Amino acid sequence: MSSARVVVVGSVNLDLLYRVPHLPRAGETLLGADLVRLSGGKGGNQAHAAAKIAPPGVTVAMIACLGDDEGATLLRGELAAAGVDVAGVQTVAGPSGTALIAVDDRGENTIVVIPGANGAWPESAVASIDMRAGDVVVVQLEVPFAVVETVVSRAATAGARVVLNAAPLDRRATELLDNVDVLVVNEIEAAELFGFDAGLSADDIAGIAGGLDTDLVVTLGARGAVFAPARGEATSLPAFAVDAIDTVGAGDAFVGGLAAALAASATLETAVRWGSAAGALTATVVGARHPGLDRKAIETLAGPVG
Ligand code: ADP
Repeated sequence: MSSARVVVVGSVNLDLLYRVPHLPRAGETLLGADLVRLSGGKGGNQAHAAAKIAPPGVTVAMIACLGDDEGATLLRGELAAAGVDVAGVQTVAGPSGTALIAVDDRGENTIVVIPGANGAWPESAVASIDMRAGDVVVVQLEVPFAVVETVVSRAATAGARVVLNAAPLDRRATELLDNVDVLVVNEIEAAELFGFDAGLSADDIAGIAGGLDTDLVVTLGARGAVFAPARGEATSLPAFAVDAIDTVGAGDAFVGGLAAALAASATLETAVRWGSAAGALTATVVGARHPGLDRKAIETLAGPVG
């Protein structure tokens, strides 16, 4: 069986979640509780989902920068345990990317993200990435834009297929599209990127897709997703019905599932189905990564990859 690679280039974060009775005011010292450490970061979440459900013959590699702290050991170990090749995860001096997430008794939260190593990529980290024809290279925008720019251009030159998840939104993402094969955005990102008000109609999405030379996938949360091949017709796919309890990370799992299917030569429609299944299943657990995600569960919802 021929082998195909998903190469995810991007962010890995340590999420520190804790409960507080109320969100602290300036100058206030509070007692918090229930501190948990979870692996996160868009890139790490995407690689995790892709590796968990990879069809036979598909391998998943992560390219990222971690700090030289204790969190890095946990982050690297969890990706490796999910089956991700972490040989391309480099160590840089300083802290790993960290998100401090306070949740109060009413469910309100405040999040402080400290990019740490995600914002400190040395040039060598990009120059050494091994990208080949036939690879599916996945990027998001949680690392410096210059890194994404270089990766996208090098991937295209190498003949890899490029999946750009333009999140968190940066309007400069449109400058990359010449070298992007599949653009994945949620509804809010799509509206901002293409100059629409929030609340895109099906016609708006079809209009955006019709003017793009890139395949487009717009995710709509519990309402599913719309996809269109470059300059083609838009098709809606409803979400799979699940008991959703926490949709954090659904978008990342969607991208991972889509990429894993594309690496196995799936059509765009099948890849969107696989992404939707990964997103739906991830919404059934607390946290951004579903430890029990596997290919069989995806196939039960979305059907075989080919
Ligand atoms: P993001 O987290 O980037 O905003 P979305 O919320 O659009 O992404 O979710 C990505 C995908 O995950 C959706 O297109 C859908 O397929 C799936 N998904 C998200 N929420 C649910 C849900 N409540 N039920 C079923 N599927 C969901």
